[in-house]
Amino acid sequence: MDWVEKDLKYIWHPCSQMKDYQELPPIIIDHGKGVYLYDKNGKGYIDVVSSWWCNLLGHCNPKINEAIKAQLDKLEHVIFANFSHEPAIKLCEELSKLVPKGLTKFNFSDNGSASVECALKMSFQYQYQTGNARKTRFMCLTEGYHGETIGALSLGSIDLYAKIYKPMLMDAIHIEAPGCYRCSYRKSRDYCNTECFEHAEKVFEQYADQTCAIIVEPLLQGSAGMRIYPALYLKKLRELCDKHNVLLIADEIATGFGRTGKMFAFDYAGVSPDIMCISKGLTGGYMPMAITITTDEIYGAFYADYNEGKAFMHSHTYSGNPLGCSAALAVLNILREDAILENAAKLAQHLSRKLNEALLDHKNIGEIRHIGLINAMELVKDKKDKIDFEPKLRIGYQIYKKALEKGLILRPLGNVLYFNPPLIINEAEIDKAVGICEEAICSVIGG
Ligand SMILES: *Cc1c(COP(=O)(O)O)cnc(C)c1O
Repeated sequence: MDWVEKDLKYIWHPCSQMKDYQELPPIIIDHGKGVYLYDKNGKGYIDVVSSWWCNLLGHCNPKINEAIKAQLDKLEHVIFANFSHEPAIKLCEELSKLVPKGLTKFNFSDNGSASVECALKMSFQYQYQTGNARKTRFMCLTEGYHGETIGALSLGSIDLYAKIYKPMLMDAIHIEAPGCYRCSYRKSRDYCNTECFEHAEKVFEQYADQTCAIIVEPLLQGSAGMRIYPALYLKKLRELCDKHNVLLIADEIATGFGRTGKMFAFDYAGVSPDIMCISKGLTGGYMPMAITITTDEIYGAFYADYNEGKAFMHSHTYSGNPLGCSAALAVLNILREDAILENAAKLAQHLSRKLNEALLDHKNIGEIRHIGLINAMELVKDKKDKIDFEPKLRIGYQIYKKALEKGLILRPLGNVLYFNPPLIINEAEIDKAVGICEEAICSVIGG
């Protein structure tokens, strides 16, 4: 049996209709280098989706490899209750200089969804222990995505992932999210006064007294199709949360570590959340690790004599894994020493210019939106009236398959194609990727 047959015999791949694999079998990746992944036949693929948005500094980055190897011969893992280790301590010290002001306490877990669950339980218990036991519910934005576990899924509003499970989910309060491409106030994203924030105000009036926290993906609703909204929205949300004693949770799992051009998306708003979740870029895409970061004030509400029963009794076996911490420390070193964000800003301009030149005038590209190196192209049947292609046609998926043939990984979000490449991609690689993307689009829908 060859590798593909064996794969399909045993493996149930994530987020896939396995029947699709009959026509498009899994590509068996043998090794990676920089922005390239190579299959068993030596064919290269440019990974502009950063292997689900987590690869920050290229595959097989020599410095991260070194850091993990060095740690591996010292200590692979240790129970993190009552025990600690240098890599975790150093990592939190370094991160504390980079995260939004006021975030000081670090609680480790091992994936993004788990860090969201941690944030939810923390908020709930904080409100309970500060005399607000009535505040038991959560708010979120429509079109949001916060992970796949039951709590996180309850605060996501994308039917594709959540609909079937509705009877299992918490009854969250959904606020209509900014929808800038089809703004119902006829404003443009860059010159609006976030008129749509009135939806949040109305919902807070009605429900804030039952609500312990709201969770948002700051500036970029990733899974919904890289929907970008203005920083002013976050600033207003901060004020509204303060007014109503609702905690503000920033899900920076996708946006953290320079993806939006700044270290964290919240940096654009000039305000801080009460709790922040980070994961994807944290270890450069090497090790499963996440952190829920919060303030002295929230931490303080759990700090008491043991018998008061106020401790946060939440744990994950792999909390604070030393290999993950070493990888993350190497990532922070590289970001600083190689001025990655400064370079990425220049590359971001280059990428946007190239995509605009190649595709902005295409009859089926409704919008090309960008923030940092993230660029998303909204495919529409009718550009003038912004009418979607029928989902059944799976236009995005057809283009994805075409691009794969030509050596580009462009796994779409419905009918949104996007680039979210490792921050170390270079101009030649960008030019090549944009070229393949254009060819793939034109060969499927013409133009
Ligand atoms: C990926 C993602 C998550 C979930 O992280 P997992 O590690 O896949 O559980 C949560 N929120 C956002 C914004 C994400 O992009």
